[in-house]
Order: sequence, then C-alpha cells, then structure tokens
Amino acid sequence: MNRVRCLIIGSGPAGYTAAIYASRANLQPVLIEGPQLGGQLTTTTEVENFPGYPDGVEPFQMMDDMRRQAERFGTTFVSGVVTKVDFSVSPKKVIVEDEIEYEADAVIIATGASAKYLGIESERTYKGRGVSACATCDGFFYRKKTVAVVGGGDTACEEANYLAGLCEKVYMIVRKPFLRASEIMQQRVLNNPKIEVLFEHNTLQLTGEGKVQGADLIYRKGEPDEELRHIAIDGFFLAIGHHPNTDLFKDYVARDAEGYILVDGDSPRTNVPGVFAAGDCADPHYRQAIVAAGSGAKAAIEADKYIKSL
Ligand code: NDP
Repeated sequence: MNRVRCLIIGSGPAGYTAAIYASRANLQPVLIEGPQLGGQLTTTTEVENFPGYPDGVEPFQMMDDMRRQAERFGTTFVSGVVTKVDFSVSPKKVIVEDEIEYEADAVIIATGASAKYLGIESERTYKGRGVSACATCDGFFYRKKTVAVVGGGDTACEEANYLAGLCEKVYMIVRKPFLRASEIMQQRVLNNPKIEVLFEHNTLQLTGEGKVQGADLIYRKGEPDEELRHIAIDGFFLAIGHHPNTDLFKDYVARDAEGYILVDGDSPRTNVPGVFAAGDCADPHYRQAIVAAGSGAKAAIEADKYIKSL
C-alpha cells in the first residue's frame, strides 16, 4: 500500500500541469502515466499554438519539457494503467495494473479523450502523414492544399469552415444524406464556396506514396446506383466524435450522456469531494492543450485547498 496526498491520473498537458502546481504546493504528487505518454497531443506533428514556443515545438518535446518541470519540483512518476478505483472511501483507492495500490487524499483525473477513427487500415498507415483528428492543430500544414473532413456534426462543420480559411478546397465526407450539425453550422458550410459536401459517401481507403494523396470513396453503398469514387486530397481529417477516457470512474463520478465528467461550473470539482477532473476528460468543447493545462493548474490548486481542509 502506498499512501500519497495527491494522485494524478494522466500524462497529457492537464496531468503534467497539475503535477507542476501540486508539487510546488508541496503535495509530493504521484502521477500515473498511461501507455500514451504525453497524451493525445503527441498524435499531432507540431504544436504552434501553445504560448511560449514562438517557433513551434515538436509535441514529444513539449510534453517532455512539462514532465521535467514537474519532476524538478518533486513529482514521482509511475508507469502503468489504472485498472480500478474506489472513491467511496476516504482516502481514495487507486489500483495500478491490478496490483499496486495507492491511497490518496485527493485524486486528479486527467485521462483525456480519444478521437474516434473509422477503423480502416490505411488510417493507421498514414497517421501523422496526412491523417489528423484536429484541424486547429494541423490545418496550418495544409495551406492552399486540398483536404477532406469526415463527419456531419458540429465538429466536422466547424473544422471544415476552419480549414476552408486555409486550404484551396475542402471536401466533407458525410455518410447520411443530411448534416447532423446545428442549422447555423450547416448554413456556413453549405454557403462556403470552398467546401463541397459529399453526402452519402463512405471512405473505403486512403491512398498515396508515403503520405495521403487520395481517398477511395463509395457512394450510396448497397443501393442500385452504388458507385466507387476517388478524390485527390493532401489531408484527411476525422471529425466523427471523441470518446472521453472515463469509463473506469463511472460508478463514482457523475458524467454527462457522452461520458464527459461533470464539474462544478468553472471549478474542476466533481461530485465526489477530493476528486477533481481536468483537461479533455471533462471538456467536450475546447480540446486544446492550453485549456487543458489551465484546468490542470486549477485542479491542483483545488486539491491543495481540499487537502488542507482535512
Ligand atoms: P456528433 O456525434 O454530433 O457527430 C458525429 C458525426 O460523425 C455525425 O455526422 C456522424 O454521422 C458521423 N460519424 C460517426 N461515426 C461515423 C463513421 N463511422 N463513419 C462516418 N461518419 C461517422 O459529434 P461532434 O463531435 O460533431 O459533436 C459532439 C457534440 O459537441 C455535439 O453535441 C455538438 O453539437 C457539440 N459541438 C458543438 C459545437 C458548437 O456549438 N460550436 C462545436 C463542436 C461540437 P451520423 O450523423 O450519420 O451519425
């Protein structure tokens, strides 16, 4: 049994920032790093919108900088996957890899969210080489080029509009004959001359020599007028939703219908006293490293207050 004051789960910008603040508050935090060190951010190619890096930064470098900053003030890192928690007791119990047990006065959940992918083989082949799940992060690399956005919801419309401001042409690949997005977002997309919406299309595979150069699509699959089509593209953006990594906490922590952890307004407090949530696991809207880092700082400040009140 390991007894700690503050335990942080997750190694993205939210987790590391929480660790910097918690360690500087002398909480001697332990941070559990899962399999994707650095979190979702490391699936992008370069980070250009995080303040403090005027020339941009390679994501692994940035996350390593954050990690070393947390280490400098005394954070202990533990590598492994959290397999069980018990937040019904005080101190809270967190079990790593089914065997290492921690008891913590405060727990900060910073487990992030994962973008949903279509599940086709070529998505994996071209990941980071034309396939992205974040237009705000990677759109800039496709200036004056042709890209496709998959999805017909608000995120897809928002990303298509954003990309249309940078790119020569944007296709939207929508599996239904209509967009699911809100009316205003639909109108923005449909009125944008740079965006062509391909309704009733599904992606079969991506093609290209070492990077994405095209996509094979199927139009009206299974219908009499079914047809194979090919589009030439330089980038393929997934916008078919995200899944917050919160299933492990569902018996204790209140979540919304999508699984995002519910927090108390602007505060990272959850419904369980002493359990805080930071970053994308509690944020269905912004999904930005800088926002996650800010909420990690808030969570550590709240955890410190909570621990001092015990
Ligand atoms: P949504 O679940 O709303 O939309 C997902 C889209 O992806 C749908 O068009 C869906 O198609 C499509 N899709 C899902 N799986 C596949 C697949 N396997 N192949 C092809 N297409 C697929 O997710 P969003 O991320 O767009 O939005 C999430 C929430 O966030 C929503 O409530 C949204 O309103 C909100 N949001 C609000 C914004 C704003 O107000 N500015 C901005 C962004 C998000 P289908 O319709 O056929 O199911």
